[in-house]
Amino acid sequence: MKIAVLKEQVDGEQRVAATPETVKKFIALGAEIGVEGGAGLTASIDDAAYAAAGATVADRAATLADAGIVLGVQAPDPANLRGAASGAWIVAAMNPFGTGPGGGRATIDAYANAGYEALAMEFMPRITRAQSMDILSSQSNLSGYKAVLDAAAEYGRAFPMMMTAAGTVSAAKVFVMGVGVAGLQAIATARRLGAQVSATDVRSATKEQIQSLGAKPIFVENVAGIEGEGSGGYAGEMSDEYKAAQAKLVSSHIAKQDIVITTALIPGRPAPRLISDAQIATMRAGSVIVDLAVEAGGNVEGAVAGEVITVHGVKIVGHRNVPSRLAADTSALFARNLFNFLSTFWDKDAGRPVLDEEIGDAVRLTQGGKIVNPRLLS
Ligand code: NAD
Repeated sequence: MKIAVLKEQVDGEQRVAATPETVKKFIALGAEIGVEGGAGLTASIDDAAYAAAGATVADRAATLADAGIVLGVQAPDPANLRGAASGAWIVAAMNPFGTGPGGGRATIDAYANAGYEALAMEFMPRITRAQSMDILSSQSNLSGYKAVLDAAAEYGRAFPMMMTAAGTVSAAKVFVMGVGVAGLQAIATARRLGAQVSATDVRSATKEQIQSLGAKPIFVENVAGIEGEGSGGYAGEMSDEYKAAQAKLVSSHIAKQDIVITTALIPGRPAPRLISDAQIATMRAGSVIVDLAVEAGGNVEGAVAGEVITVHGVKIVGHRNVPSRLAADTSALFARNLFNFLSTFWDKDAGRPVLDEEIGDAVRLTQGGKIVNPRLLS
């Protein structure tokens, strides 16, 4: 089985879907690996490192020739897959509900028409045995970390309390909204930098997690949030009563914060709006808000994807594709997720992976020329 690793085709994407470490591991399974020249450069991996690991480094056409599996970070353009074996698997984050390059329905339809089997890594079920294959977790973790560093870089003051001969600098107050994988890492990172941290979520299970990281939980009381863990641990849309109580709570808290990191997402829906323009106006000039949900519609009113803007003297940071901003580490984790996925199902006799029903049916978007995933059919 030949596995092709392509150079990413979406503008600004710096990650790569395999590293020399995973190349070696795939070869140990019996696979042959082709890497498109220059694929790893933006993630600090040169062609020589792939070649030393046993890959054949070549141009795109030679890399794709007879490949049975094509690995990507974002969905490769179907027009750029000529030469791959018939029925080849395309394994990447497929972003099937997105628009523009790197996924979208038109791309998935084109994969189906070309007879490829598209496997969407972001559809990996949230079950214990799939944790090591979960790209959303591995990438969100580093996004949470980077969000705090981005905030610190934009903030014209220090994070830790500092006692100097010239006087005391007080600690920055950081508020994290949405305490999933990214939010937990944001809390931990802000704490390590010496900030005073508070955090909120709609899932009551996060209260203990916030406290265990040394931060203060800020929760809506007397209105039901989400008790325990919902399906896959994800949040749903909240009631109007909850939203009103949350807005009131946030209004009184946010005016005292220096940094706000928002990470709230609801699968399959636009991100919930958590901060209004009027609330931003109550913050001190020079404060910073980082909206990690900006590409999903944004938690913060006025946030612009791909830009850092200033509103009422407050900087609103809306970087796109935050994982790509730490490409060396996020690529290493993404590549391991892909290897863990394919190696778990590797059938030695067949010389290729054979998926089981639970995971296969969840991630498979196209097969036999058709869209087969219920999430795309409903
Ligand atoms: P996510 O990226 O979908 O959302 C981020 C956070 O935003 C969530 O904690 C969510 O509850 C919160 N949120 C949504 N609406 C909100 C609102 N209106 N106000 C405030 N907060 C809001 O979440 P995630 O990072 O994917 O994590 C969700 C859960 O799934 C976590 O408990 C995580 O530990 C769990 N998880 C499980 C697995 C697994 O079992 N394989 C893998 C990853 C994550």
